[in-house]
Amino acid sequence: MSKKTHTCGELRAAHAGQTVTLMGWVNRRRDHGNLVFFDLRDRWGLAQVTVNPDQDTAYQTATEVRPEYVVAVTGIVQPRPEGMANPDMPTGDVEVVAQAVEILNPAKTPPIYVHMDGGEDEALRLRWRYLDLRRQRMQHNLQVRHRVYQFIRGYLDARDFIEIETPILLKSTPEGARDFVVPSRFHPGKFYALPQSPQQLKQLLMVAGFERYYQIARCFRDEAIRADRQLEFTQLDIEMSFVEQEDVIQLVEGMFTGLVGAVAPHKRLLSSPFPRLTYAEAMDRYGSDKPDLRFGLPLVNVSDIAAECGFRVFVEAVAAGGQVKGLRAPGCAGYTRKQLDELETLAKSLGARGLVWMALREDGVKSPVAKFLDDGTLTDFVLRLEAEPGDLLLLVAGEPDMVAQVLGRLRLEVGDRLGLRDPDVLAFAWVLDFPLLEWNAEEGRWDAKHHPFTSAKPEDAHLLDTDPGAVRANAYDVVCNGWEMGGGSIRIHRRADQERMFRVLGIPDDRVQAEFGHLIEAFQYGAPPHGGIAPGLDRLVAILADEDDIREVIAFPKTTTAQDLLFGAPSPITDAQLRELHIKLDLETGER
Ligand code: ASP
Repeated sequence: MSKKTHTCGELRAAHAGQTVTLMGWVNRRRDHGNLVFFDLRDRWGLAQVTVNPDQDTAYQTATEVRPEYVVAVTGIVQPRPEGMANPDMPTGDVEVVAQAVEILNPAKTPPIYVHMDGGEDEALRLRWRYLDLRRQRMQHNLQVRHRVYQFIRGYLDARDFIEIETPILLKSTPEGARDFVVPSRFHPGKFYALPQSPQQLKQLLMVAGFERYYQIARCFRDEAIRADRQLEFTQLDIEMSFVEQEDVIQLVEGMFTGLVGAVAPHKRLLSSPFPRLTYAEAMDRYGSDKPDLRFGLPLVNVSDIAAECGFRVFVEAVAAGGQVKGLRAPGCAGYTRKQLDELETLAKSLGARGLVWMALREDGVKSPVAKFLDDGTLTDFVLRLEAEPGDLLLLVAGEPDMVAQVLGRLRLEVGDRLGLRDPDVLAFAWVLDFPLLEWNAEEGRWDAKHHPFTSAKPEDAHLLDTDPGAVRANAYDVVCNGWEMGGGSIRIHRRADQERMFRVLGIPDDRVQAEFGHLIEAFQYGAPPHGGIAPGLDRLVAILADEDDIREVIAFPKTTTAQDLLFGAPSPITDAQLRELHIKLDLETGER
């Protein structure tokens, strides 16, 4: 076999006259009378190959090739005949006139057509992932991913960060999800847990004196799969010593800004420096701790007007300690019954009892509740929401968390309907001052909002025993276009503070010893003040590659039902394996 001299994608008019050898996959073949054409494809693009019948053997072979055959072609690059250039193809000015065609490996008729981009059921794409990955879109996405990794490594290396790997087989590292566990053969009845993140490890690396660490780390969390979540996902795990929140923010902001320029220059950063808002502001104005800031339309509190209005549902909601908030949908006053019903259905699906609308039409304010309100009150709502003629107002009443969730989601829906969520705009922002703790009503105790290693704001620390819910954390999230892109915090680094935190979380001393003993022990041997962050790389790559679903930027993702359809995982193991692990299965339903 001769050697590949050029890639399929690189041939241009300047190559005319050169003899080249290309190797790749047959994209499509066309017979034109007595000529055979096929496009040869490799990672770098497509080249048109023409085979004339006067090249006897080559012609004979060319008539046999089919899509996805692996083929070597040697021939001369020639300008395409007058009028035959293809401006849509980077190599469209030339073709390779074949002298030799060799089939390196034939292919069965592929179950999905590589040259046609997608469209089939995702299950089919994942079952035949190696074929799906041949497609231009997937090749591009993984290329973007690679570029992101290279940029990050260069950026952090230039700032004296050191890349260190940490174990996959370890012990539970709580980040609020369920652990994946692996039975130990050497230690019957004992299990490793796969890390939910390298959180404690990176903190120990700070105790170990590395000062600036990063790792492109795989994290494992046994939780429901969604468009932005997989069982295993990749984080850029970062930790630094002797830093404050501002240092982490500057580092990451510089990195993201540089990344967009280097990897997705067609995207526009909406604001730089990234705007900052507190968690309380984000929840109040956008009903979300990961607001989409590509557009305004903030939520507006109208509880005071609602409390005194004639509409009983509003009055009662406020009297019961709830809220009434509203959202302006510019230019939507003409929405039809059907469109309004769609919005109401969405609101109800998220827990709202109903959705009140007011439309500022030419002939006055139309609303199903208008009959309960006097003109003055209607005007108060309109003025407070800064509505203009032609606008539609959407109002929700009830318990504040629900109101935030429903209106936050409606805001995104309105943004979508009005085309305000431009994929080429990146609205990064920082959300700061998260609460340290979150009340777990089911179990009647406080949970860490971020994780138990996050420190409290020094000025709030005195509230830990008296009013834990009011304590703000030294924690920060970076968000973009409605996605959480990463979160981090300044950590607790003194043993006594960490033990106090575990007490607030109601974790008994023996469990602290068993699960976190190594960490609090380390804090006694000179732990520096430290903090860090962990941006999610799957989401970052998806945004830069214009994908909505992280599965499109992961080579071999799992389905939403947690399966790998190519390998058929998960799968049973043999009885011998089970015996070795001292495991007896007790399945009520199942295959064994
Ligand atoms: N370990 C955290 C997480 O996985 C990130 C951090 O605090 O650095 O969300």
